[in-house]
Amino acid sequence: MPTASVEQLRARFRGQIVRPGDAAYDSARKVYNAMIDKRPGVIARCVDVADVIAAVEYGRENQMLTAIRGGGHNGGGLGTCDDGLVIDLSGMKGVRVDPAAGTVQVAGGCVWGDVDHATHPFGMATPSGFISTTGVAGLTLGGGIGYLTREYGLTIDNLLSVDIVLADGSFVTATGKEHPDLFWAVRGGGGNFGVVTSFLFRLHPVKMVYAGPTFWPLDQTTEVMKAYREFILEAPESVNGFFAFLTIPPAPMFPDHLHLKKVCGVMWCCNGPADKAEAAIKPMRSVGKPILDHVGEMPFPVVQSLFDGLYPPGLQWYWRADFVKELSDKAIALHAEHGAKLPTMHSTMHLYAIDGKARAVGKNDTAFSYRDANWAEVIVGVDPDPANQDIITKWCKEYFDALHPYSAGGAYVNFMMEEGQERVQASFRDNYARLSAIKQKYDSTNFFRVNQNIRPV
Ligand SMILES: Cc1cc2nc3c(=O)[nH]c(=O)nc-3n(C[C@H](O)[C@H](O)[C@H](O)COP(=O)(O)OP(=O)(O)OC[C@H]3O[C@@H](n4cnc5c(N)ncnc54)[C@H](O)[C@@H]3O)c2cc1C
Repeated sequence: MPTASVEQLRARFRGQIVRPGDAAYDSARKVYNAMIDKRPGVIARCVDVADVIAAVEYGRENQMLTAIRGGGHNGGGLGTCDDGLVIDLSGMKGVRVDPAAGTVQVAGGCVWGDVDHATHPFGMATPSGFISTTGVAGLTLGGGIGYLTREYGLTIDNLLSVDIVLADGSFVTATGKEHPDLFWAVRGGGGNFGVVTSFLFRLHPVKMVYAGPTFWPLDQTTEVMKAYREFILEAPESVNGFFAFLTIPPAPMFPDHLHLKKVCGVMWCCNGPADKAEAAIKPMRSVGKPILDHVGEMPFPVVQSLFDGLYPPGLQWYWRADFVKELSDKAIALHAEHGAKLPTMHSTMHLYAIDGKARAVGKNDTAFSYRDANWAEVIVGVDPDPANQDIITKWCKEYFDALHPYSAGGAYVNFMMEEGQERVQASFRDNYARLSAIKQKYDSTNFFRVNQNIRPV
């Protein structure tokens, strides 16, 4: 590492530069998934756009492998790298709600909990994910699938502009009118095109929601999944519910006799009046005999953070994912078989519906191609104990291998680990060639390549 250059960087940097041997190094290099254990050469903890520009120029001049870190949640650890430079935006916070315009401006280092906290008092929200600790940046740039997807679209469908530092250190704002090619590419193409320092989103009326889980015993899986595949795609768009296999945690909110019981279930979040929501989801809650049905009215930020305690940073995570168009009887039988084998309490499988308003946008209108899939499936082996890495990985791979032949082909880039070029191309389908040309225009040397990489033509 050329020390003089680090000193030069330090001289023009307001944030903190952390290097191996520094007291802060071990905490600064940690990411959410403890299975990722990378040792960067320089961590540039930026506090403003000038810091980001300085860091990009430093990385480029020294030809360093350079990763961009937002919330640090990426399953494959794409917010960090070995030996190179990490441009860490996690210190760049700040959310400004404009209630009259119905928009929210979000700094590049925010997590979704920061946004929900700021917008909720105004009775508004923008579509995000299913947990409050995920970074706004990584989630948005990959697409953004969450509780509000069916009603208001993917996160990118509500993105109005980004401020972005490009590979040459220049700063631009991209919107539908300014740099429209770049704006098209960042809506689904991930962190391939530059460092996004700020996002502007459209807001929607969301205040109290009717939310919570309905759980069934595993021997009812087939009946429940068959009902779910019909129900959710025909439900009003204000209704969202993802299907899951999970283990009921030994938490006081659940009755003792259900603790550590493996179940299948639907996790609901319905926007709008409770009585309407209750009536809308009644047909699904009447299927079979649920062993727990715990749905009620709550503020939107509460449902967004229900899983935060169960999934703190520092667990081991192994991910596999696919888009799914049809849940055939055969696929359901395989889900029932593999879902019943959840290897640890935290391991899970989710199916997120991506129909409704997400379907109203064309598959070539943004970089996110799979608008015609009905679900994003994600299988995650999770456990606190590194000794269980092999168990969670094996289960996850076997489950994925069994179901992959029934998938739509590609996967949601934000649910993938490092799986190679073929898989990346399969996930962008016919958008890949255009993405590649835009990459050539804005980052011809592939400086930003620690991501689900789009290669310049
Ligand atoms: C517990 C958990 C729950 C999740 N739930 C959901 C969900 O409900 N819905 C959903 O859609 N996804 C979800 N995800 C996936 C999530 O969207 C991805 O992991 C995403 O990459 C996380 O973004 P981040 O900023 O936290 O990640 P980081 O690890 O910081 O970054 C990931 C990648 O994003 C890019 N990036 C980050 N910041 C910037 C930036 N400022 N500018 C340019 N590029 C940047 C970089 O390419 C980087 O490689 C979840 C992940 C976890 C671990």
